[in-house]
Amino acid sequence: MKKCMIIGCGGVASVAIHKCCQNSDVFEGIMIASRTKSKCDKLKEKLQPTTKTVIETAQVNADNVDELVALINSYKPDVVLNLALPYQDLTIMDACLATKTHYVDTANYEPLDTAKFEYKWQWAYRERFEKAGITALLGSGFDPGVTGVFSAYAIKHEFDEINYIDILDCNGGDHGYPFATNFNPEINIREVSAKGSYIENGKWVETEPMEIKRVYDFEGVGKKDMYLLHHEELESLALNIKGIKRIRFFMTFGQSYLTHLKCLENVGMTSIEPIMYEGRPIVPLQFLKAVLPDPASLGPRTVGKTNIGCIFRGKKDGKDKTYYLYNICDHQQCYREVGSQAISYTTGVPAMIGAMMVLTGKWNRAGVYNIEEFDPDPFMDALNKWGLPWQESFNPNLVD
Ligand code: NDP
Repeated sequence: MKKCMIIGCGGVASVAIHKCCQNSDVFEGIMIASRTKSKCDKLKEKLQPTTKTVIETAQVNADNVDELVALINSYKPDVVLNLALPYQDLTIMDACLATKTHYVDTANYEPLDTAKFEYKWQWAYRERFEKAGITALLGSGFDPGVTGVFSAYAIKHEFDEINYIDILDCNGGDHGYPFATNFNPEINIREVSAKGSYIENGKWVETEPMEIKRVYDFEGVGKKDMYLLHHEELESLALNIKGIKRIRFFMTFGQSYLTHLKCLENVGMTSIEPIMYEGRPIVPLQFLKAVLPDPASLGPRTVGKTNIGCIFRGKKDGKDKTYYLYNICDHQQCYREVGSQAISYTTGVPAMIGAMMVLTGKWNRAGVYNIEEFDPDPFMDALNKWGLPWQESFNPNLVD
């Protein structure tokens, strides 16, 4: 029996679990293991009557390698899909190494005390994964994830070299709250309040947070303000895609979101430095997370669409070429299908597909790999089949 252990039972995991259950020919058994077991049990209760996939649940603290090893040894999954938080990446990788089990995640490791996400910690596991004969697939969400698969597809089929990539992440959804985040608020706010950066001629160029703004007219959404952010896939794509001169990442934000964020920053609520409160240390950002709406609760109230993709410029047969690959996803359609909004959906579907690639042996190479290092074709087919159909344009508007 082919089995997958899913760690975490939040917004993204819930979608991935729904999708595994729709895909029971591949996912014959899943174990949902998370910190709060009642969430896993609730999902099992909802989904077990609808699927042939045999669902088991367990409580686990994914910060504890010994606990993870014991659980993996008792369930014996073929692959572990890490959908907890980036802080747990290394402990889960350690447990996979100890049990010789394949590993898949959607976000790179970030230490709790520094809001700096880069691949060096996980790339340092390469040799150990090679020696153990197991695969670690890093970044199998949408961005990183599908953006890397789009890049691998573009270089394989459309270009001899790609010189410029602009990744555009547009959320045209409206949840009706003045301020809420669409995925884990702590991770989201750490990401958007950090300095921006992009890679030009092999070097990182740093900007102030939200310093670079552009307006783009997105199909299915309309005109939106977007801002240059640092994003983790820039680091791996600049190394893995041939010919890159510049690679940037833009994300759309509404004015209300930015005004609230500025205010929260100004009063110190987004800080990750612990402060003393009534005799005990608390982290302001973690306290803020506790008072904000749970992203999982946004599903029923979010309307509108997301449009995420990559604009490539490069050369084919000696001629300049431009190519845009993107996906448009409708919040309400996602909600009707799996009970979640499109941000969780666009991450949870590729997470299931990444685990499927490893589980079926389509992607099978011992070591630690970013997603663009594998053959994109079966993943691109699976996106069309499992709810994230992609579109292409050979004459898109460019970002200056
Ligand atoms: P949530 O906060 O909704 O879910 C996180 C889950 O992990 C919760 O169920 C939580 O348990 C569980 N968890 C946290 N710590 C532990 C622990 N120590 N042991 C066991 N379980 C734990 O987050 P999301 O679903 O929004 O995000 C999940 C991941 O997806 C994150 O890493 C995020 O960065 C990534 N992501 C990637 C994207 C991409 O495109 N690549 C886009 C969006 C997100 P509990 O229920 O007890 O809180």
